[in-house]
Amino acid sequence: MELFRIGPIPVTWRDGLDFLLLTSILYAVLRWFYQRNLLNLALALLGLVVLYKVVSLLGLLTVSFILRYVLTGIGVILAVVLAPELRRWLYSLRLLPGLRVLRQAIVTEETAAHLAQELIEALQLLSKHGLGALIVVEGDDDLSAFAQTGDVVQLPVEARMFLMLFEKKSPLHDGAALIRGDKVIAVRCTLPLSERLDLPQTFGQRHRAALGLAEQTDALVLVVSEETGIISAAHKGELRRYPLVELKKKIQSFYLR
Ligand code: ATP
Ligand code: MG
Repeated sequence: MELFRIGPIPVTWRDGLDFLLLTSILYAVLRWFYQRNLLNLALALLGLVVLYKVVSLLGLLTVSFILRYVLTGIGVILAVVLAPELRRWLYSLRLLPGLRVLRQAIVTEETAAHLAQELIEALQLLSKHGLGALIVVEGDDDLSAFAQTGDVVQLPVEARMFLMLFEKKSPLHDGAALIRGDKVIAVRCTLPLSERLDLPQTFGQRHRAALGLAEQTDALVLVVSEETGIISAAHKGELRRYPLVELKKKIQSFYLR
């Protein structure tokens, strides 16, 4: 069905839909590259694709033949270079939330209250002893890829255990500890850094890492500042200080979500 005409060319609703979908996909792809500071690369690639189309239309066989191989080569290189990013992105799609049931036991109200209490006690102890810490509680998004950046362990979620873990002389104190259910499943993990430009000067790498993970996944990230002893939490792309009572409730309801 014809909608309107541009000069002699009829435009149907199919063309409209085609255009709308193409622009949305292009926008999403460019935004993805932009968020990773790779916009220039994406634009260069787009330029090459357009050039390829133009030379193909003009029937310039040799150039279009070479361009086709160049584009395929770049595609393969990009896939290899961006593999970890792509993997994380695929995880964040949360296509299979049902897998959570297989991955972790469903937590009862009693267990949730106990775990929240242990974590709050841990944060208080760490803060009191002037120790910096980064503790991640996994949500629905699978954090296995981040667990692999550190050392895989099986430790209980107990206040004194965290004190030992983040002790400055402990070989495991660097990076983040990762909790799945009622177990610490990895330590010394590296988290993605937030690229936000509007963070306060006082936020260093630890806080940036907490926010970075909370931007990319639905995890709850707890932070104790080594410098100030301040306890904060990052969740759903937001990092802020919490009164302990409120934070305890937050951890508890996070477990019961
Ligand atoms: P603090 O207030 O405790 O000083 P900060 O936000 O100022 O925290 P830094 O002083 O830069 O941050 O903290 C450095 C520590 O943060 C490192 O020793 C390391 O344990 C942790 N850290 C830094 N980058 C990452 C990362 N990408 N993933 C996980 N942990 C990280
Ligand atoms: Mg610091």
